[in-house]
Amino acid sequence: VLAQAAPLERRGGEIYGAVGVLQDITGLRQLEQLRRDFVANVSHELRTPLTTIQGFIEAMQDGMAGDTAVRERYLQVMHRETVRLNRLIHDLLDLSRLEAGKVEWEINLVEIPDLFSRVLFKFQSQITATQLTVQQAVQPGLPPVLGNEDRIEQVLINLLGNAIRFSSPGGLIELRAAAENGKVTVVVRDTGPGIPPGDLPHIWERFYRVEKSRSRSRGGTGLGLAIVKHIIEAHGGEVAVQSEPGRGSSFKFTLTAAPVENGTYS
Ligand code: ADP
Repeated sequence: VLAQAAPLERRGGEIYGAVGVLQDITGLRQLEQLRRDFVANVSHELRTPLTTIQGFIEAMQDGMAGDTAVRERYLQVMHRETVRLNRLIHDLLDLSRLEAGKVEWEINLVEIPDLFSRVLFKFQSQITATQLTVQQAVQPGLPPVLGNEDRIEQVLINLLGNAIRFSSPGGLIELRAAAENGKVTVVVRDTGPGIPPGDLPHIWERFYRVEKSRSRSRGGTGLGLAIVKHIIEAHGGEVAVQSEPGRGSSFKFTLTAAPVENGTYS
């Protein structure tokens, strides 16, 4: 509580009372704390790859990468960290634009199976490299959804990207889409390490990771799911996750199915 008080004086200087204002600033304090945490998180996340890059450059300057193989390895690490820095900045800007609510999205009729194909194509080399099997199960006659195509593609990229990154070689990933009661539900399921029950409610928060080092070493920014939640909720949809450690995770989101008028979707 913030307390402020002031004396009440008569013209001659005689004090005859006082006014006090008590203001509940719990909400403000919490907001300020959140903002401070966020700035601290961002600084930390930016500093980690930069420190790595700096360390490797200095090692090279000190002549510690004499032979080509070592130099090549150093450059690979620096390149990987630079890519991650870039992704982090891109995700941060994306999220701040989403949160400011400044973006106006064009709403299209989006065919989920088309997005599945497009996103799978983008990840093809990683899927092959980790020998993952991807199965698709799309309900016959699935209606299109109403939404912004690029944003929904971004959601699928983030979810499928996670499923791939957290899967072990030879794992199975499933993409499902089905309609019910005017809604289309999309599921991205993997047979990866799963998420402990205690962490589940938090994974949508910015920078929350179950294992920081594993996420970072796999190129994660800790922002992917926060972006997913934002995009889906901005579409009036919902996100959910089910997971069992050691068995895998299943991420789900719902969007509005396009209504049918005179036999066509509108
Ligand atoms: P990151 O860039 O770290 O993947 P996200 O916001 O996408 O950030 O995910 C937050 C955290 O949730 C991850 O660090 C990881 O701990 C957990 N997570 C997300 N997707 C999966 C998954 N498919 N399997 C296991 N853990 C996951």
